[in-house]
Amino acid sequence: MMKIIGLTGGIASGKSTVAKFFQRLGAKVINADNIYKELSKPGKILYNKIISEFSGAIVGPDYTIDWQHLAAIVFNDDIKRKRLNDITHPEIKRAIGILIDKYRMMNEPYIVIEVPLLFESGYNTICDETIVVTVNPDVQIRRLMNRNNIDKQTALKMINAQMPLTEKSKLSTYIIDNSADLSKTETQFYDILDQIKR
Ligand code: ATP
Repeated sequence: MMKIIGLTGGIASGKSTVAKFFQRLGAKVINADNIYKELSKPGKILYNKIISEFSGAIVGPDYTIDWQHLAAIVFNDDIKRKRLNDITHPEIKRAIGILIDKYRMMNEPYIVIEVPLLFESGYNTICDETIVVTVNPDVQIRRLMNRNNIDKQTALKMINAQMPLTEKSKLSTYIIDNSADLSKTETQFYDILDQIKR
């Protein structure tokens, strides 16, 4: 029986970092954000839907969606953020379902689904185990500012638009605290892996 492990966390909390640990061990990782970006390329199913909702102003000079621009809109407007989720979510869910079926047929022992909105969108119901990657607020702000090259106010807005990490932690089977250096995170990862394999 294949086990589905749901991996989630907050913005810049370290989901991809932990996903890489899984990948290094050969586990298949399905990344919801990558699917979203793939389905939103020109000619793909979400491209026209997103532009119809947000106008051509969010298209860059190369005709691809300007993600920074779109983020600036939806992180300042709860209704627009919900609209974007409502448009994109069904297609992403469908694509994830197809990949899960494929890996099941390949008899993969484990698959990891990396989904930022795992609990909010109900993916946890199809998971055998869930892992939340948390980080303390100061570190999260600093990493997000550095990675996205944004100011503190913008970073806070993005963080505060999400379900608090403390809430996600309560809903999760396992928690990895990624506030310190990577070796500490990796130790927690292997501890959890031991428990999942039991
Ligand atoms: P998002 O969903 O917002 O894309 P994420 O949750 O996948 O983010 P990562 O991309 O793994 O988060 O990490 C966010 C940033 O923090 C990256 O720039 C990464 O290099 C850095 N980072 C992650 N973990 C650590 C760590 N333990 N020590 C130092 N930097 C880290």
